[in-house]
This record gives sequence, C-alpha cells and structure tokens, in this order.
Amino acid sequence: MGLKIWLDNKLVDETDAKISVFDHGLLYGDGVFEGIRIYSSRIFELEAHIKRLYESAKAIRLVVPMSKDKLIRAVEKTTEANGVIDGYIRLVVTRGVGTLGLNPFICEEGRLFIIADNIQLYPEELYEKGMKVISATTVRNHPLSIPAQVKSLNYLNNILAKIEALDNNVPEAVMYNHEGYVAEATGDNVFIVKNGVVFTPPVEAGALEGITRGIVIKLAKEEKLEVVEKNLTRFDLFNCDEFFLTGTAAEVIGVVDIDSRIIGAGSPGPITRLLRKKFYQYAHGKKS
Ligand code: PMP
Repeated sequence: MGLKIWLDNKLVDETDAKISVFDHGLLYGDGVFEGIRIYSSRIFELEAHIKRLYESAKAIRLVVPMSKDKLIRAVEKTTEANGVIDGYIRLVVTRGVGTLGLNPFICEEGRLFIIADNIQLYPEELYEKGMKVISATTVRNHPLSIPAQVKSLNYLNNILAKIEALDNNVPEAVMYNHEGYVAEATGDNVFIVKNGVVFTPPVEAGALEGITRGIVIKLAKEEKLEVVEKNLTRFDLFNCDEFFLTGTAAEVIGVVDIDSRIIGAGSPGPITRLLRKKFYQYAHGKKS
C-alpha cells in the first residue's frame, strides 16, 4: 500500500495525489516548501516551519490556501495517517494552475500537498568520520534577485552547486555570495569554531534562516559558548579548528576537509560532537 498524501484539503491515496502540468510550481518553480522532521512521533519545531512557510509565501505574494491552525492539523493528520514514528515531512504550496505565460495572478488558487515518509539519512560513518566538502564556483543568488530566506521551489542555484560537489565525489558544497563571503551549503547552514568561539554567517550573507541553525545557536549559548554571526571567507574555513553543517535532514554533521585543506585533527572536533549530542537530546526531548 502506498502513502496517504494530504492534497489541498484532504488525505488521498498516493496514486490519486496529482498536480497539473499547468501548475506554475512545475512550470516555473513558483511556490514554497518546508522540510520537517518527525522524532519519536513528535513533529519537530512545527510552528517555526509553518511561520517560515508563511513568510516565504508572503515574500513572493503567494496566498497559502489554508489558515496556520488548519495547516498544523493537516500536517499532524498526515503524519498520523502514515504511522510515521521517525521520518520527514515535505510540505509544498504551489502557485496553482495557470496559463503558459508567467503571470502568477491569473493562476487558480495555490495547491497544497503534504508528504510524510521515512528519511534517507547520511550513513552513520559519515557522522563519526566527518565529511569532505568543496567550495562551489556557482555564486549564491544575489539577495536582491531571490532572498535566501525564501524557501522557494526554485532550487536550481543550489542544485548547480550540488552537481559540482557530486562531480568531485563529495556530498556537499559551500556556496559563496556575490561578495565572496560564505553564504551556506547547498542544503545546510555553515558553522566554524576558532579558538573556542562559534561563528556562523549572518542570514544577510545569503543563507536560509535554518531552523536547525537557530536551535544550535541556542544550545551553544546554553553551553556557555560564545556565538558570533559574522561574514566568513574561504580563508576562514581553511584555517578554522572545527567546521560543521546544520540542517533538518543532516542535523549536525562535522566537516573535516574543504578543498583538500584538512580541518583540525581531521575528525569532528569536541564542540561539534558536543553540539551534535545536545541537538540529539533536544530533538528527542531528553535532558542531558
Ligand atoms: N539552507 C538551505 C539552502 C536549505 O535547503 C536548508 C534545508 N532546509 C537549510 C539551509 C537548513 O535549514 P533547516 O535547518 O531549517 O532545515
């Protein structure tokens, strides 16, 4: 049996969850989305994800065709209907069915769908050993073209950088903005540690305001670590003591090599491991 998918205002069988080829989400990548975790049957930071979805939609003048409260219930119902204990939710709002022209305002009402499924994780070994990354030559979209805070369906900028990573046999690439400062990775936020201080680029550098990023900043401060949001260069990454990425799917993962420069001792450092542990405990509702 297939999954139950939430489509517009009800659950349908996977085989009946269909979107038109005239939907501008498909024709133009015109829409917004969220990726959300389920840990031990609890939907992680759902309200923060819903808030971000509405803010993304507002920025692109897309009306989410459902109230926030109803949307929260729809996400919960979809999770329950599929019996997902530990998994991943994809919540998508498209511009809706339009013509072949660009005009979004003649589209019918936006379409909304929710998928709750299992998640394909990075192998455990990668968390223990840390990952290699490269610097992408693809420059992050200029914030005056598409603000990075908008989690839009148009991910080509990130996909081009991801292709560079995969061509180099590594899973992730760091993207730099038009000024040469670190923006983010293709699907994760960037953190480094230098002399015991945790640094991450400000959102204005071209990063999505990651929900995992926000939690990791909070957890680091609870551990009495200094956290500084500041522009970082490629040189800063090469010469840091620790390097890690954060994201809903990846959680907290150490980086041990960028462009063949070894980070620290070549394995995830103590602050990375501490924050990964704290994040795990927080996500699973455990106290230390
Ligand atoms: N940056 C990009 C481009 C992403 O796609 C994601 C994953 N949604 C992130 C950062 C991390 O954000 P979050 O912690 O909210 O998943």
